[in-house]
Order: sequence, then structure tokens, then C-alpha cells
Amino acid sequence: MSDRINKSDDEWSKELSPEQYQVTRCGGTEPAFTGKYWDHKGEGVYACACCGQFLFSSDTKYDSGSGWPSFWDAVDKSNVTEHEDNKFGMRRIEVRCSKCDAHLGHVFPDGPNPTGQRYCINSASLDFKEGSAG
Ligand code: FE
Repeated sequence: MSDRINKSDDEWSKELSPEQYQVTRCGGTEPAFTGKYWDHKGEGVYACACCGQFLFSSDTKYDSGSGWPSFWDAVDKSNVTEHEDNKFGMRRIEVRCSKCDAHLGHVFPDGPNPTGQRYCINSASLDFKEGSAG
């Protein structure tokens, strides 16, 4: 696994936009159908907005109808970590970047084949890079 990044909240708040900071470092959620990537269709890779680690490929992106960018798999299982999240009276699995712990979104077991997973991710946590995942 890649080297972990540890920065203070102060450092992150200087590097990120207020919305990126709220979502990635405070576990926020952007309103549905408002992010820059929910309906984005380029070919390339979606990197972590905080640290640049590759997280998701356009090859696994699909339209879930949720209003958030949705993927049926991560680029590599070791690039994301999963955490039980019981906030708001719901049992959900939170997904974070494995390198910098950025909050990305949640993963649900109602996705399409071949994995059956739906990674429901905030646009604010992502930075799209055109081209192949290399
Ligand atoms: Fe990251």
C-alpha cells in the first residue's frame, strides 16, 4: 500500500475548497444532482481530491439515478477503506481514501454486475484525470 498522508485540519483547509473540505475532512455530503461528476462521461480516472491517489475508473462508472457519481468497483481494493457508519439511524458502509483518509461516500450492495456493489461517491471528493488509468 502507498505511504499514508497525515495533515492537520488546518493544512487541509488551506489546500481544499470549502466544499471539498466539508465533504472530505468532515464527512459531509453534497446535495444530489449538484456535483460536477454525477453526470460526467469522460474516459479516465477519478483521483482523490485531497491526495491524488487513483480511486475509480470511468470504466466502472454507471448511472445509478442517485445524483452522485456511482461506480461498481474501485480501481484497486487497497486504495479505499471501508468503515461501519451508524449515523442518522442508518447502517451504512463509509468509504475513505486509503492514503489520506478522505471521506468519499458510501458503498451499498445494490449495484450492477459483475460486483453487485454501488460506490456512491461525492464529486467533491474526486478529481477527474482524462486518459487511461495507466
Ligand atoms: Fe486521498
